Amino acid sequence: MKMYDVAITGGGASGLYLAALLGGRLSAVVIESGARVGSKLSATGGGQGNLTNTGVCADRYFCSDRRLVESVAGSDWRSVLAPFDGLFTADARGRVYPAGRQASALTDCLRRKAEANADIMTETSVLGIKRAADGFLLKTDKGALRARNAVLCTGGMDMRTVFSGHTGYDLATSLGHSVTALYPAITQLALTDKSLRALKGVRTDCRVRAYGCGEFIAETEGEVIFGDGVVGGSAVYYISSFVTDKRNVELEFEFLPGVSEEEIAEDVRKKTALGVERGELLGITLNNRLGRAVVARTGGGAEEIAHTVKHFTVGIAGAKGFYGAQVTKGGIPLSEVTDGLESRFVKGLYFAGEILDVDGECGGFNLHWAFSSAARVARSLTGGAK
Ligand SMILES: Cc1cc2nc3c(=O)[nH]c(=O)nc-3n(C[C@H](O)[C@H](O)[C@H](O)COP(=O)(O)OP(=O)(O)OC[C@H]3O[C@@H](n4cnc5c(N)ncnc54)[C@H](O)[C@@H]3O)c2cc1C
Repeated sequence: MKMYDVAITGGGASGLYLAALLGGRLSAVVIESGARVGSKLSATGGGQGNLTNTGVCADRYFCSDRRLVESVAGSDWRSVLAPFDGLFTADARGRVYPAGRQASALTDCLRRKAEANADIMTETSVLGIKRAADGFLLKTDKGALRARNAVLCTGGMDMRTVFSGHTGYDLATSLGHSVTALYPAITQLALTDKSLRALKGVRTDCRVRAYGCGEFIAETEGEVIFGDGVVGGSAVYYISSFVTDKRNVELEFEFLPGVSEEEIAEDVRKKTALGVERGELLGITLNNRLGRAVVARTGGGAEEIAHTVKHFTVGIAGAKGFYGAQVTKGGIPLSEVTDGLESRFVKGLYFAGEILDVDGECGGFNLHWAFSSAARVARSLTGGAK
């Protein structure tokens, strides 16, 4: 049985990046259960590959150890571009994309470099990892492998593997690690009020404020899209990262953020004087169905309607689920790894990417973490910081 220096479980963003960085200095194998490596990476940023953000810093991450995240992710977005040959551009929100706006080109570049440096096994699942005298014995559904070091780059909750008992979390716990509570993040949120199903298909740009047990949590401005009992869109995706692990969450939508309450009230007063039906009092001013939903919540006159346009509150029943979520909140606690992202319990076992208890805001922060944590592991394996 061949002995590798490094066995990387998971050929996603962090696993491929790590293999590319090893540069043949160590013998490595990447084991990926999917038919192709990097399939999620190719789907990121709506297929355009939002791989980092010019505003990257530890404050943009949800984590239990800001110092460690600061040390790994840093504050220089360019630091993760090294293996990618090409040019990159940033949009007004700091989201950095390959200039050609093709996420699959990022995967192709990493795959080429990984293939030059490592054996790549696809359609192969790691079913178990055991410590052995000289490292690790990995059991896969295609046979066993030996390696001096093992790196878990298995990502977050993946519904394809979640019932198999062979997720990265299962592998880590079998080696003595714990896993925090897991929640979907950057995802649609389920609404408690079933009557809002009538808004399915309505899209609007507005301000969104989130409250938990009445306490302010976060706010943002952007697109909101109502679905079948759920709400999504870029503003909700952003907010979801702050609320999916909280109880008694409410979102307050401020429709027409650039228009004052008095202007809205005046518009409603004019239409009332013209004899416009009550349900249509916000016609033209708001999407028709949204306008009707706002008016239906009020019993009073123009001032109350205008106030409700600015403070439309909906109850949140939680995240829609892990299906469709972009990331998983929670994972292997940072207290269980060293600064080199090596296990504090098992020498030679490392973690990179989403499997760790770190998730970033929407906007390129999660790929930045996947890449920068893989770079930290590469440094540890090749003799850098431990
Ligand atoms: C639709 C979508 C869009 C996104 N857009 C963005 C974006 O624009 N910007 C951004 O920063 N982030 C984005 N993300 C999040 C980002 O893709 C992830 O945070 C990142 O891919 C995590 O990298 P990873 O290597 O930890 O995990 P992954 O990339 O998920 O890779 C994990 C790999 O491990 C494999 N695996 C798991 N268990 C086993 C096993 N037992 N044996 C063998 N293989 C196994 C899986 O098949 C998978 O290929 C998006 C996510 C989604 C779903």
